[in-house]
Amino acid sequence: MAESVEQRYKDKVTIVTGGSKGIGRGCVEVFVKHGSKVAFCARGEKEGRELEAEMNKRGPGEAFFLTCDVSEEADIMHVIAKTVEKYGKIDCLINNAGQHPPRTSIDEISGDDFRRLLDVNLVGIFLFSKIALPYLRKTKGNIINVSSLAGQIGQSGATAYVSTKGAITSFSKALAIDEAEHGVRVNVFSPGNVWTPMWEQEARWNPDPAAAKQAGKDAQLIGRFGTLEESGLLCLYLAAEATFCTGTVVNMSGGAELDLGYKNKMKKSEEWK
Ligand code: NAP
Repeated sequence: MAESVEQRYKDKVTIVTGGSKGIGRGCVEVFVKHGSKVAFCARGEKEGRELEAEMNKRGPGEAFFLTCDVSEEADIMHVIAKTVEKYGKIDCLINNAGQHPPRTSIDEISGDDFRRLLDVNLVGIFLFSKIALPYLRKTKGNIINVSSLAGQIGQSGATAYVSTKGAITSFSKALAIDEAEHGVRVNVFSPGNVWTPMWEQEARWNPDPAAAKQAGKDAQLIGRFGTLEESGLLCLYLAAEATFCTGTVVNMSGGAELDLGYKNKMKKSEEWK
């Protein structure tokens, strides 16, 4: 039985990539709750089908799951074609699917590792946008690209990841300029620490997962992780209400980037004594 709420995206058609878990799942849940018909994709079928069934039971919108690897152009074309076949249009594309490899120095990353990550985190967004745009132009819809606070301020042991995330912002601004004449808005959602399976995995890679989780909370002025619902609601705001915003980057970071702090990495270096 659907909870009675004002439906802020009723009958709009939304695509969410990487929608089976984490931030993407938050978007699927919030958009369905607000009346949207949501096509979402991921590689793993089990979680996708389970979420699809749960959402269709809950309503008032709808969910439609498709398997897709965003690094495969044929998969992307399939998702767009099936969405248009089922719902007849696309109003919003949320390019959320992304990966964060284990932290390591540039010495440990090969060119092929970097290219594989670029394919998922950046080329996938480029192709999804390109293939969806003919439909988005018809509805004067919008694209939300999920970047990261790390793409703005950097992150240790993450040169490849940070590069892909910074490039998402540059791409989005350039696309916002070109698509303005078609009435399509392009914005960037830039989260800091949100508690998701990705973050859980990052904590598990640490020798002390509980301490890593606590440090993740303490990185914010607000002293906790962001939630899936907060992520979905911010994307809903960009899609439904931020009609004078294009090319903007919206941080959802709990203030993590503010204030000066202890950052000295030279302490052990003889030459700086
Ligand atoms: P997550 O918990 O790992 O979930 C990622 C989702 O994307 C899953 O549904 C996953 O499903 C899917 N996915 C991964 N690779 C894919 C591929 N090649 N093709 C299609 N789907 C794929 O990640 P998250 O933490 O929610 O992160 C979502 C986005 O937010 C990412 O772009 C990430 O960089 C960004 N972000 C996250 C945080 C954070 O603190 N969590 C902070 C800043 C930015 P399958 O594995 O089944 O494919």
